[in-house]
Amino acid sequence: MKLTFWGAAGTVTGSLHQVDVDGKRYLLDCGLAQGRRKEADQKNRHLPVDARSVAAVLLSHAHIDHSGNLPTLVKNGFSGPIYTTPATIDLSNAMLRDTAHIQEHDAEFVNKRAAYRRREGHGNGPEPVEPLFTMEDAERTLPLFQPVGYYTPKSLDEHLSYECYDAGHILGSSSLILNYRNGGARVRLGYSGDLGRPNLPITRPPDGLPSVEYLILESTYGGRFHKSAAHVMGKLRDVVNRTCGRGGRIIVPAFAVGRTQQLVLLLHQLANAGQIPSIPIFVDSPLAVNVTEVFRKHVECFNAETRQYLLDHEDPFGFGRLQYIREAAESKKLNDLRGPFVVISASGMCEQGRILHHLRNNLEDPRNTVLITGFQAQDTLGRKLVEKMREVRVFGEPVTVRAEISSLDELSGHADQGELMDWLKPLAPHLKKVFLVHGEAAQSQALAGVIRSQYGVEVAAPSPGQSFPLDA
Ligand SMILES: [Zn+2]
Repeated sequence: MKLTFWGAAGTVTGSLHQVDVDGKRYLLDCGLAQGRRKEADQKNRHLPVDARSVAAVLLSHAHIDHSGNLPTLVKNGFSGPIYTTPATIDLSNAMLRDTAHIQEHDAEFVNKRAAYRRREGHGNGPEPVEPLFTMEDAERTLPLFQPVGYYTPKSLDEHLSYECYDAGHILGSSSLILNYRNGGARVRLGYSGDLGRPNLPITRPPDGLPSVEYLILESTYGGRFHKSAAHVMGKLRDVVNRTCGRGGRIIVPAFAVGRTQQLVLLLHQLANAGQIPSIPIFVDSPLAVNVTEVFRKHVECFNAETRQYLLDHEDPFGFGRLQYIREAAESKKLNDLRGPFVVISASGMCEQGRILHHLRNNLEDPRNTVLITGFQAQDTLGRKLVEKMREVRVFGEPVTVRAEISSLDELSGHADQGELMDWLKPLAPHLKKVFLVHGEAAQSQALAGVIRSQYGVEVAAPSPGQSFPLDA
């Protein structure tokens, strides 16, 4: 077995890992790179792997930095199965269409503005851009998905099988193991996927993995410790009340899947308990209706507390003050709405989608708050906001940041150093090597240090293109 790292190696986004075994090639995830526009775009357009050489893809979860470049793989000739959990298939169905729509729409928007500038005599402007992939490419990808339930071994080849476990990160998320057995030779490779945490709203705590010799482990927060999720309600309540006191709006960039539903649930609980005023809450995403249906359909993936809350209360994903916005025209009307309100919109790292319009319209007003609720990768607009830059560029134009910028780190869907180490502990005695991915250098190095010193396990933090033989 040979393992090669391409994406999310030395960085967080663009997950793409290649496994070669018995002359066949498999990919673990095929995600979109995000960050510096041009660099990310080049990475996404030029796959490092010949798409036609890939036998199958094993997909850990539906977030676009793990799944979002599957249509490019298909566009380049991949036609094999994409194995993943039933909930991930339903989410991917909604998300890949949405991503294709955004790619088409953003390309059109940029081209229109460039044409306008040329007409107004502001030079030639940038070259016209092509969408990364189209709706047609996304629609050709969806039939390739094949469901594999948790804890159900799936045979991939004569000597190779795979099995997945609940990663506790978002609905349907999985950690997985590849199990190779040929005569006396045996190699087991684990992949954590994105690893969640105990006590998050909606999701279950992550499952432990059975013994493996090799492990690909995410390290998003390998050098950090989160504040306890117990404080999240109080902090959310304070941000909402403070902003309402100023008569401002609360703009929340959030992954359309996972974080949005958590926030909706928490806002529902706060409003029900009378801890925040009864202001309108908008989920502004064409994805939201479909994704909420997927959540309702996959209650089996919820934790016990959320299942109980669903039984005891009105549907928290569809309560009276909450409105889902599908149409762009309605989204634009929000700008004319007076008085405080909350708007939750994607993308979570402020890289694309409707959140960009909300930021452009609201960042300059000091009454407003931008509430950051998830990890922001280096060089994304979200990261610049977290780093309190006074001026940022939205759609290529400068905007002065006067709004309050608040972060709700407690909702992080990624395990911190302590949680990663706890998850790793039972695996450590049998591990030959751990490969750290999905983390910026400082985070991976910090985690590598504690794994070596506490468990005495060999650790690598691979760079893109680096290969490792996995011996029996
Ligand atoms: Zn994720």
